[in-house]
Amino acid sequence: MKFGGTSVADAQRIKRAARRIVEKREQGSSVVAVLSARGKTTDELIAMAEEVSEQPDAREMDMLLSTGERISCALCAMAIHDLGHYAISLTGSQAGIVTDTSHTKARILQVRADRVRAALEQDHIVLVAGFQGVSTADDVTTLGRGGSDTTAVAVAAALGASECEIYTDVPGVFSADPRIVPNARKLDLVSFEEMLEMSASGAGVLQLRSVEYARNHGVRIHCRSSFEDWPGTIVVTEEEREGGAEAMDHPERPLITAVTHSTSEAMITLVGVRHEPGAAATIFEALAQAGVDVDMIDQNVPTSTGGKAEISFTVAHEDLSRATGALQPIASSVFESMSAQREMGKVSIVGAGMRSHPGVAAKVFRVLTDEQINIEMISTSPIKISCVIARDRVERAVRALHSAFELSGPNTVAAEEPFKTPPLTT
Ligand code: ASP
Ligand code: MG
Repeated sequence: MKFGGTSVADAQRIKRAARRIVEKREQGSSVVAVLSARGKTTDELIAMAEEVSEQPDAREMDMLLSTGERISCALCAMAIHDLGHYAISLTGSQAGIVTDTSHTKARILQVRADRVRAALEQDHIVLVAGFQGVSTADDVTTLGRGGSDTTAVAVAAALGASECEIYTDVPGVFSADPRIVPNARKLDLVSFEEMLEMSASGAGVLQLRSVEYARNHGVRIHCRSSFEDWPGTIVVTEEEREGGAEAMDHPERPLITAVTHSTSEAMITLVGVRHEPGAAATIFEALAQAGVDVDMIDQNVPTSTGGKAEISFTVAHEDLSRATGALQPIASSVFESMSAQREMGKVSIVGAGMRSHPGVAAKVFRVLTDEQINIEMISTSPIKISCVIARDRVERAVRALHSAFELSGPNTVAAEEPFKTPPLTT
């Protein structure tokens, strides 16, 4: 069981999480719970670091950030004791989460779960601090924002758990963000491939790496509300998805599963790029060295520019100045000029049903055209189409695509419902 930050935000909610954990134990399961830092704790810790240092040291940052999750675990263990059960809280390091040495975005290499297993054998409930581990150099590391999801999946994999339940403040994974599309549908089943594309294109429910890890290790994820008892969304293999309830409800499998979006894109365009081998390599090596993650890339060679190329690409909004800074030194040797557009967004449609189905891209472009939305860049995978558009057009694009592909349905939840905090049902 993994509880996100909003599910442990205050004393009441910690007690509620404790009760859910105990209930599960009393139903006969062995339980390991992974907790996130309470509410906005991680943001506050980052702000504290920035108050004392302009560029906080990454190792010390991890020492600091890892405390948020420890607080949640210790408090929850206390609440569980008061319910008459024994719980032991463990740091990531104590739980045997071994990572590489890349501070603030470490990758899990191995989970040595002996101590967790021993505690379970003694009938204890085990609480593991999410989002952290210990590096091969014996330093505390953290796993990147949203990393508690990955802790939970990794622990579930190491223990051979029957399911990894991700308890969150929404009832599951939706066909679009219900804050933008009030009649978005809660999805019962999603395949790993679809969830990967959705997490990568802006769906915030599950950290991308947790989905990768789950797919690689065959961990069944159940993403559900921590405030209600209803089943949420189960992430399964494509085969299970095909044979699942949803497929039976709609023998004609829908083309599209979800519309996702992001409003944190920036686009850089380089003009007058030398059109010869090595130019693109030099540009993207400079970006890689600066640690800038590049998303979409587009190159063309307009005939009007006498054989010089134009390259556009997108980066996360917060990486923009790092990216332009990294390109400055090669400005005259590799390209002539550089321009940046800060206020960009991205809208994507995802669905395994679009594989080998003609006309889906055409329909996306037609829908955006009818909304007078200009597409700056396009990228596709067999089960995804993404368009970079102006940030202030994103909401409109999401609504139009959701309706054009008829994604609302029987599981529709009214606008406010997933976001108010319903009373405890159990
Ligand atoms: N507390 C961390 C964050 O806010 C990790 C997590 O919640 O998953 O990103
Ligand atoms: Mg999260």
